[in-house]
Amino acid sequence: MASQRIHRSHYPPTQIPTNISVSQLLQLYNPDDVAGDKVVCEDDWTGKSLSYAGIREDAAKGAFALKHIVGLQEGDSICISSPNSVAVVKLIHAVLWCGGIAVLINPLSTEYEVAHCLDVARPKFLASDASTRPTLHSAAKRQGLPHLTSISVDDISGDFSSQHTLSSLFSHQELIPPFDLSERDSREHTAVVCFSSGTSGKAKGVELSHYNVVASMLGMRATDPTYWNANIRSVFLAPLCHIYGLMTVALMGAWIGAYNVLMRKYTLESFLELSASINANAFRILPTIAVAISKQASFDLARLSSVKLIMCTGAALPPSTIKFFQEAFAGAPIFQGYGMTEANITMLKAESAHHIGSVGKLFANVEARIIDDEGNGVTPGEQGEICIRGPNVFRRYMRNAEATNDTFVGNWMKTGDVGKVDKEGYFFLTERKKELIKYKGNQVAPAELEALLNSHPDVSEGAVCALWDSDQGTEVPIAYISLRKGVSSSAPLLASIRQHVDSEVAPYKKLRGGIVVLDEIPKSGNGKILRRMLPARLARERNAK
Ligand code: AMP
Repeated sequence: MASQRIHRSHYPPTQIPTNISVSQLLQLYNPDDVAGDKVVCEDDWTGKSLSYAGIREDAAKGAFALKHIVGLQEGDSICISSPNSVAVVKLIHAVLWCGGIAVLINPLSTEYEVAHCLDVARPKFLASDASTRPTLHSAAKRQGLPHLTSISVDDISGDFSSQHTLSSLFSHQELIPPFDLSERDSREHTAVVCFSSGTSGKAKGVELSHYNVVASMLGMRATDPTYWNANIRSVFLAPLCHIYGLMTVALMGAWIGAYNVLMRKYTLESFLELSASINANAFRILPTIAVAISKQASFDLARLSSVKLIMCTGAALPPSTIKFFQEAFAGAPIFQGYGMTEANITMLKAESAHHIGSVGKLFANVEARIIDDEGNGVTPGEQGEICIRGPNVFRRYMRNAEATNDTFVGNWMKTGDVGKVDKEGYFFLTERKKELIKYKGNQVAPAELEALLNSHPDVSEGAVCALWDSDQGTEVPIAYISLRKGVSSSAPLLASIRQHVDSEVAPYKKLRGGIVVLDEIPKSGNGKILRRMLPARLARERNAK
């Protein structure tokens, strides 16, 4: 039998109820005694805002309209694709309040990508704004779903045959009570779905149950109440469709009553200006933004002396950037979160001089094992694949039992990340076993780009992997291809192949690392692409010339 070697969180375990919905948690507990009229969420471009009590009231009204006017029934999915706004936050809560499933689609997605998400989610309803409506509409047509009922989150009518505007839905005065799971099992009711490629293949719908979300919220609070509380004021950039934005702003923010300003259009200058103008006391950013802040010279960071906390998650924070922040924001702890769509945050650390490079210690209620290729727990200090288990770990991949089974060994979830743990319980990531590439915090699945490469008539085979761009502090996708017999490489051909891929995918997935032609794509004996051999292969070929 495989040796276990289980690592446990040093935080005392929190009791996670299995009979409460996210909306019931919001209605029943106000952990910081926040006043009902406190503004907790605001758009920087419309000035529209939501108060602590207003979120709950709007959710109850919106839920009434969704149920009785739109026809959304318990367990129905609604695909929401829109840039960040308070309207989206309201809609997510209204959907949860009436027992629906909020499926979040990246607003930058192309028709090709949205069609895949619709295929996975099979929604009964769509919600979009002017910027995403045409893509959603044409993807729905492509999937043979042109008659889905649609909700306009910006109140602008589109050309869907059946359409409601959000403000007309929220103008109804009737309220309904929150989705009641007191007599049921919250582990069996999905609340939200975000997309992730998991350890391999195309994007999959990650089903997070009401139990998972409630556990994450209670776990965050138990792990660090000084960070997750009502006093936090910050400008938030990450998209609400990603677990980071969804949990931090839409769900946790609404529960604890932190103040978040949502930005429509990001420039570093405007982010820093806005943070200064609201006296932000926390930065909640991605490592690439941290790197950009450390490199900019035009904004005087002394104007941000109000910032007392820095939180970075989603990718590694370079040590030089940590050092910069330690000097520029003396005394402000730099939190680093390690997590994933499938489990929210699972490790956290306030940067200290001794553990630079670590992703921290286990979150409350989270357990980990580090295993070798045979599934045995490795000895502390040795590296292996990190597996986790806990109430925050997702329920399943939507309509994909095979991927779900591949991801779990018993009740342990394989993260696809390789790492080690020291004697004090600090985890360090050393490499990634899974195929994922992360461009500025956004997921890029090699399999998706490879399918597009392989559909080009002149490409025999393509493989995609990550290239590190140290200027931007992020990975970028680079493609390696072999050409069909008789086709010779040329700059116009490579440009046309690149265009063929880039035109089908969201901007963050473009082949920024370029395309490299190889005689043949390296493979293992059983035909699997040896992704890790790709850059080495390139270097070898170059040296041989
Ligand atoms: P996502 O599901 O988009 O949040 O991506 C999850 C993946 O991002 C993880 O499995 C890691 O590979 C990577 N990741 C997340 N947080 C960190 C971190 N603090 N340091 C390094 N990589 C990270």
